[in-house]
Amino acid sequence: MIANLPSAARKLAALTLALLLWTGQAQAERIVIDPGHGGTDPGGTGTGMQEKDVVLDTSLRFRDLLEADTADTQGGGSWQVSLTRDTDVFVSLAARSAYANSINADRFMSIHANAFGTASANGTETFSASEGGQSAPLRNLVQEEMIAAWGLTNRGNKTAGFSVLVNTAMPAVLHELAFITNPTDAAKLASPAERQHAAVAHMRALQRHFGIVPYLPGAQPDPESGSLLVVVLDPASLALANAVVSIDGDQVGQSDDSGELLIEALSTGEHLVAVHASNFEDAEQVTDVVANEVGNLVFTLSATPESGNEPPGNSGACDSPSPECSPPGDDGVGGGCSSAGGTSSTGLTLLLLAICLCVSRRKRLAFAAR
Ligand SMILES: [Zn+2]
Repeated sequence: MIANLPSAARKLAALTLALLLWTGQAQAERIVIDPGHGGTDPGGTGTGMQEKDVVLDTSLRFRDLLEADTADTQGGGSWQVSLTRDTDVFVSLAARSAYANSINADRFMSIHANAFGTASANGTETFSASEGGQSAPLRNLVQEEMIAAWGLTNRGNKTAGFSVLVNTAMPAVLHELAFITNPTDAAKLASPAERQHAAVAHMRALQRHFGIVPYLPGAQPDPESGSLLVVVLDPASLALANAVVSIDGDQVGQSDDSGELLIEALSTGEHLVAVHASNFEDAEQVTDVVANEVGNLVFTLSATPESGNEPPGNSGACDSPSPECSPPGDDGVGGGCSSAGGTSSTGLTLLLLAICLCVSRRKRLAFAAR
């Protein structure tokens, strides 16, 4: 029996390694949530509230959501969440970043509320230390989700050398929910339901940041609906922002800086998806939405002839002059094989005819060359 022990120990080691490798695939991201201020430091004050209280409540809701998301295996992500404070205590700025660094956090998310001397200042803004790395993309998503959630003035994505942003070793963002000194903004901050919405917005931003389809823990799968991720690219296959996306004729949103628009809760079955962007040709595709799945639909738009964005070598259907193929005319309507600008059916017919002529002539030439 004693002689068998080394072999048993080897097996145990192999099993442990296999388990480590397996759990490594579903590794939880370490998230540090940083509620601003606390204890003797109230942060901004106004409209009967203190910043330290509203940001702590929002942060605790955010933590609870991430823990619920981790426990719920139906969707969403897996998170290991820590807070720099979870009660009304003072924590120095240096201690906050040092804590996140000490536990080797993957992301640091600080939550604050703004305050200003005059009540008119209002809106939502999010900061990163720089435009580089992973901080700015997370910052942009937090801002985007919070604008969608609260609908306050969009003060934008910004950079600043805040202590917790420059002294953290991992990607870090600092979000300013709203102005505690503005009545409209303060109504959001004062509402527990709105603070829950803010927490959900932060969770959605984090899920999207890690490439996870936004998921609300506890949500029951809907057999009647699915989602669609529309990706809009320009002719060079680069992300195209602000393209207007329509589903079955109704505008549903615009592509973001990554050229993406996620459309959720679409009824299952066929939908006509159309994309419109200035200086590019409109495009349409029919897609089939499957229950509880996220379909992927990529549009690579062509430049309109007038835009001047057309890639080289694509200006005409054939490379030798012919009655159908002409250089741009004096009227400024540009070249190619269609003098009608390519939009009318006559123009399209002429274009097709010209292509056929070119192809058949090339075939004959190729044949003759043999
Ligand atoms: Zn603050």
